[in-house]
Amino acid sequence: HHPLDVITYIFSLQHNMQQIAFIDGPSGTTLTYSALRLKVRALAAGLHGLGIRKGDVVLVISSNSIALPCIHLAILSIGAILTTANPLSTEREIVTQVKDSKPVIAFTLSHLIHKLRATQIPIILIQGTLESRCVTTLHDLLQSDLKDMPSIDIKQDDTATLLYSSGTTGKSKGVVSTHGNYIATIAGNRVRYETEGCKMYICSMPLFHIYGLRFLVCTLAAGATIVVPPKFDMEEILRSIERYRVTLLPTVPSVLAALAKSTGAQKYDLGSLQQISLGGAPLGKDVTLTFNAKFPRIQIRQGYGLTETTGAIAYTNSDEENRRNGTVGLLSDVVEAKVVDPDSAKPLPPNQRGELWLRGPTVMKGYFGNEHATATTLDSEGWLRTGDLCYFDEEGFLFVVDRLKDLIKYKAYQVAPAELEELLLSHPEISEAAVIPYPDQEAGQIPMAFVARSPSSNLSESDVIKFVAEQVVHYKKIRRVAFTNSIPKNASGKILRKDLIEKNVPTSRL
Ligand code: ATP
Repeated sequence: HHPLDVITYIFSLQHNMQQIAFIDGPSGTTLTYSALRLKVRALAAGLHGLGIRKGDVVLVISSNSIALPCIHLAILSIGAILTTANPLSTEREIVTQVKDSKPVIAFTLSHLIHKLRATQIPIILIQGTLESRCVTTLHDLLQSDLKDMPSIDIKQDDTATLLYSSGTTGKSKGVVSTHGNYIATIAGNRVRYETEGCKMYICSMPLFHIYGLRFLVCTLAAGATIVVPPKFDMEEILRSIERYRVTLLPTVPSVLAALAKSTGAQKYDLGSLQQISLGGAPLGKDVTLTFNAKFPRIQIRQGYGLTETTGAIAYTNSDEENRRNGTVGLLSDVVEAKVVDPDSAKPLPPNQRGELWLRGPTVMKGYFGNEHATATTLDSEGWLRTGDLCYFDEEGFLFVVDRLKDLIKYKAYQVAPAELEELLLSHPEISEAAVIPYPDQEAGQIPMAFVARSPSSNLSESDVIKFVAEQVVHYKKIRRVAFTNSIPKNASGKILRKDLIEKNVPTSRL
């Protein structure tokens, strides 16, 4: 028997409803699975009472809190469509998104209401001071009577979420994912969690992004306890790990790099931590080695996925795989994959680099209201073009080289910025690095590096150039360097190369 909606599915997997589902980091307040289900039901009834129906789009703009999972689950449980926005997005970015997704109502915090002032959307206040625009509060909706709630018929093919891709490579697009997509992502993931036995997790990724959302549904399905820290502050997260004896930390490679190089982490007792799972951006091999030398007992697991595949579809499942070769692991059982020549679409043999194509039940339905983008990304046989340059080795381990769109074209050669960034990060005096194409009359493009130096470093431009030149073939050499204090990154840890290009390359040369 296949349950139809993801929320029923998650609760159907629980063996012990008295188990704690959430711990509020700062206060220590807990919520059991049974209390969570009651809250979700009350909130669902409240939303229904407000006239929200299946297929209506509901916007949520909020930083993480223990309230947020209830909101997300309640929206999904009535068949409404959850759309989210990064609370740090500007008013302009949020309004663009709202014009596209047309939500009927928005949940938000009082200090974020101004970002919606150019819209007419009614607001449900999650927390803060009530304003005239607010139709009600989360607190009031949670008091709703369950008895007026009809049962709602949700099918696997019904839309669950409309998440906007971060737009690191172009205009942001709304990714339409169904209940079936989420059920498949959970099903494809469970095997791995069950064998791990880690059960105290920390929600250190934003819940507006697929990374956080997938983490949420998969870990609830696994019956874990999730600590919710108040904000994305490394100190806060480390403190919570120590206080609640957290066993698993999901994060992004840049955070691991910071932990590997900083001495701050040693102030905290991280003895409970068994595993750090990473995804969203490439992980340098050297970062793993430096980290392992410092914290030998903590296993590093990598995952690879896209919003378009409802999150991770490949992951490493043993420390060794990861340490040996920098793979993102084996494919999940639920997807099929092939690596093709990006021009001819012809499948390539193992160890040859090409574009990764994926097919299976976790692949999105399409981009919202954008037939053109959908048609160029999904073919008629259901294959999703990931836009990532990848290869498989003979044993089926997947390697991600870089995004096709980000490749630097030096004369007739293609240079992957991620490879150079990894190399730069292996330098002990480089704390952050980004590589972009810089226009050049003779070569077309040359690799240019942005480098953040560690505090007391005197590294010069020629030192950086020499360091790389000694380790790469001539066409991959860095030919221009700029020093900076920090590299811009998005919520999933990706370097915003597009921003760096726009800010640093004179427009006359673009
Ligand atoms: P946009 O497509 O608008 O730029 P986005 O791609 O940032 O948005 P996401 O779905 O968050 O949206 O990112 C998916 C991409 O992240 C993948 O296509 C891949 O390039 C990159 N990625 C994810 N995990 C890894 C990993 N483990 N190693 C390397 N790259 C990764």
